[in-house]
Amino acid sequence: MAAEAAKAGGDTIFGKIICREIPCKFLYEDDKCVAFNDIEPQAPTHFLVVPKKPISQLSKAEDSDAELLGHLMIVGIKCATELGLTKGYRLILNEGPDGGQSIYQIHLHVCGGRQMKWPPG
Ligand code: 5GP
Repeated sequence: MAAEAAKAGGDTIFGKIICREIPCKFLYEDDKCVAFNDIEPQAPTHFLVVPKKPISQLSKAEDSDAELLGHLMIVGIKCATELGLTKGYRLILNEGPDGGQSIYQIHLHVCGGRQMKWPPG
C-alpha cells in the first residue's frame, strides 16, 4: 500500500485520534498534521504535533519528508505562541527504544511552562 493511501497516523493510537475513532480536542489541524495535548503531561503545557502521513519513526523518514518534518516544528512554534509560552519551551522527538519512543508514529513533543532541566533523563 502506498504511504499516501495508508491510514492517516498509521495503525497506532495516534492514527485512531487523527481519524477521530478516539475523541480528542485538537489544538491545531491542517492537511498535514494535528496537535493535541499529551494524556500524561510532563510539564504544565505538553502537547504533541503528529503528521497525518504514517511514518513510524524518525529513522524511517525519507528525503521527501524534509518539508513535512520542518512543518511539524513550525506548527509547534505557532501552538506554543498561541498557548502563551513566551519564556521558551522544549521540542523533543524520541527515536526508537533507546530514545524512549513508545508510540510508533512520529510525533514532536512540545513542553513548556516550567524550567526544563539538562541533561534530560
Ligand atoms: P513517546 O514516548 O512515543 O515519545 O511519546 C508518546 C506520548 O504519547 C507519551 O507522552 C504519552 O503520554 C502520549 N500518549 C499515549 N497515549 C495517548 C493518548 O491516547 N492520547 C494522548 N493525547 N496522548 C497519549
